Amino acid sequence: MSHYDFLVVGCGMFGATFARQMAERGRKVLIIEKRPHPGGNCYTEDLENIQVHKYGPHIFHTGIDRVWKYVNRFAEFNAFINRPKVRYQNKLYSFPINLMTLYQLWGTQSPDEAKKKLEEAVVENNDPRHLEDWILSRVGREIYEVFFKGYTKKQWGKDPKELPASIIQRVPVRLNFNDNYYNDKYQGIPVGGYTKLFEKMLEGVEVKLNTDYFANRQYWDSAADTIVYTGKIDEYFNYKFGELEYRGLRFESKLMEGDYQGNAVINYTEEQVPYTRIIEHKHFELRNTDKTAVTWEYPDNYDKSKIPYYPVNVERNNQLYNLYRQEAARQKKLILGGRLAAYAYLDMDQTIDAALTTCERIST
Ligand code: FAD
Ligand code: UDP
Repeated sequence: MSHYDFLVVGCGMFGATFARQMAERGRKVLIIEKRPHPGGNCYTEDLENIQVHKYGPHIFHTGIDRVWKYVNRFAEFNAFINRPKVRYQNKLYSFPINLMTLYQLWGTQSPDEAKKKLEEAVVENNDPRHLEDWILSRVGREIYEVFFKGYTKKQWGKDPKELPASIIQRVPVRLNFNDNYYNDKYQGIPVGGYTKLFEKMLEGVEVKLNTDYFANRQYWDSAADTIVYTGKIDEYFNYKFGELEYRGLRFESKLMEGDYQGNAVINYTEEQVPYTRIIEHKHFELRNTDKTAVTWEYPDNYDKSKIPYYPVNVERNNQLYNLYRQEAARQKKLILGGRLAAYAYLDMDQTIDAALTTCERIST
C-alpha cells in the first residue's frame, strides 16, 4: 500500500473539491467513500435518461464568483431557476412569499396594498427568541399557518418554538412578483447530472468506493500524513461526549408517463400530509420526455443505520458540537470539513468555498 499525503474520508462536495485541488498541486491523495458511488448527497442517477436526485433535490446557486467559475470547469450549467409552489388544503400557491402569493391569499394587487396588509398582520416582537416568533414578526399568523408551521414541524420533528430562526431566514419574503427561491447571482443544474460533474472533477484522483473508514481505522490512519474527514464529527470521536442529533429523510420514487405536476418542486405544507415535498426530476433538466420520475420526500427520525441528512442546530447540539470541535483542534494530523464534520447547514457553494479556503490555508 502506498503512502499518501492526504487520505480524504468521504467523496461528497467537500472531499472531492479538496482532493482535486491537492492533486493539482502535485500532492498524493486517496479518497475513501463508504457508499457505492461518488457525490455524497448530490449524487444523481440515470433513470430512463432522466437524472434523478437520489438524496433530495439539489439546485446549485451561489453569489461567490470563484465558486461559480470553479464548478463551470467541470460541468455546463443549464438555466434552471427554482420556483417552487406550495400546496395547502388543496390550493396551490406561488412560493417563496411574493406579490402573487399575497394576491392568492388576500386579493391584494399592488406592493403598497400588500405591504399594508402585512403590516396589519405581523405580530410585533423586537426580540424573537425562536423560529415561530421570528416568522410571526415578519408575516403574521395566517401566512405562518399556511406556509411554515406544518412544514417546519414535519421537517424537523420539533415544535417551531424549539427551533432557531436561522433555519428559516434563508427563505425570502418579497413585495414584488419575483418568485425565484434564491437571491444569488448564479443558479442552474449541471447538464447530465451531478454525477457527471463529480466524474470530471475526480479525473486523475484515486477513489476507493464501498470503503468505510471505521471498518479499518488504524490501517487508514497509517496510510497518510493527514486525514481529511468529512463524516459525522461525533462518530469520529466515538461519541465520547454524547451523540449529536441529526434529521433523516426517506424517499419513495415512481417512474410514470407524462407530466405529473408541471414543476420540479411542490411543497406540501400541511402537517397532516406525511411528506414535505414532491419532486419531478425532469423539470430540473428543462426538458420534456414521455416518461417522468417522481419522488415523494418524507422527513424521518435518524438512527445510526440511516443517512444523517441534516444537523439539528439547537443550543444543546451546538454546545456538544463545540466540545468535539475543541477536541479536534488538539489533533495534529486531522482536517475536518463539510456539512457533517462542521455540523452546519452548508449549501454546495459554501462547502466548495470552505474546501478551497482549506486548501489555500494549508498550501501557504
Ligand atoms: P456529503 O454529501 O454528506 O458527503 C459526505 C460523504 O462522506 C458521504 O458520501 C458519506 O457517505 C461519506 N462518509 C461519511 N462517513 C464515512 C466513513 N466513515 N467512511 C467513508 N465515507 C464516509 N445544497 C445546495 O446548494 N442546493 C440545494 O438545493 C441543496 N439541497 C439539499 C437537499 C437535501 C435533502 C440535503 C440533505 C442537502 C441539500 N443541499 C443543497 C446541501 C448539500 O447536500 C451539501 O452542501 C453538500 O452535499 C455537502 O457536501 P459534503 O461533502 O459536506 O457532505
Ligand atoms: N420552510 C417552510 N415551508 C416551506 C419551505 C421551507 O416552512 O414551504 C422552512 C422549513 O423550516 C425548512 C426551512 O424553511 O427547513 C428552510 O427551507 P429550505 O427549502 O431552504 O430547506 P432545504 O432545501 O435545505 O430542505
